[in-house]
Amino acid sequence: MQTILSVKKIEKYYGNKGNITKAIDNINFQLDKGEFVGIMGPSGSGKTTLLNCISTIDNVTTGNIIINDKDITTLKARAMEEFRRDELGFIFQDFNLLDTLTAYENIALALTIQNRDAIAIDEQIKKIAHKLEIKEILTKYPFQISGGQKQRVASARALVTEPSLILADEPTGALDSKSARLLLDSFEKLNKELHTTILMVTHDAFTASYANRILFIKDGRVFNELIRGNDSRKEFFNKIIEVVTLLGGDVSHVL
Ligand code: ADP
Ligand code: MG
Repeated sequence: MQTILSVKKIEKYYGNKGNITKAIDNINFQLDKGEFVGIMGPSGSGKTTLLNCISTIDNVTTGNIIINDKDITTLKARAMEEFRRDELGFIFQDFNLLDTLTAYENIALALTIQNRDAIAIDEQIKKIAHKLEIKEILTKYPFQISGGQKQRVASARALVTEPSLILADEPTGALDSKSARLLLDSFEKLNKELHTTILMVTHDAFTASYANRILFIKDGRVFNELIRGNDSRKEFFNKIIEVVTLLGGDVSHVL
């Protein structure tokens, strides 16, 4: 199995002397190509910090993060920018689409900054739009489509460059349950058919149940891991709920 991501003994502190928050306290894990992994944990446990360090938005205090054999903790600004553009795809809770561009143009943006030619761009957009079932809305602007459609457009933008790793922070956080289900069905399909590697942060057990493996973090540390194996999504969901109950005691809070 090809390892896409290696997180090695990372720590992240915020603040300075006398007033330090340890947001990440020695986290280690690996992601193989084609895995769909969820990161769960209560609010303030370090999920976003972890994802931001992997996505090069933030930097670690100590430790190493290796993506596709490259140690991103040692990259210089320019190399980092190129790496982010070519190797990573981002999906955010609030979509981050540009309001003045159509769905098509939003997706195209990810490719035009890679200097690809117009015909190749058009082909790739059509292909990914078909997979995410957004072909009919490509000429529409963000204000003309639903939240669920916006998130599928944002996902198309993240996926169209065929990055090594997709990073999603609470991708269903702003969606109603039906839209969330549709989006997650697409993630599942893309993961199975294209072997897209996905790392998804969520505090929602239903969303997490689509992953094949879940890392639970608390106080900046991994404290449990669940592997789906041959479980159905429903069975996996129930196991997640058990851990969540153990983790916080208060399920409704974490859900
Ligand atoms: P989560 O995403 O799991 O809710 P975060 O990664 O956002 O958690 O936060 C982890 C911890 O780090 C929290 O205690 C939070 O207050 C702290 N933290 C996060 N970002 C910053 C920052 N920029 N400056 C100071 N403290 C921060
Ligand atoms: Mg967060």
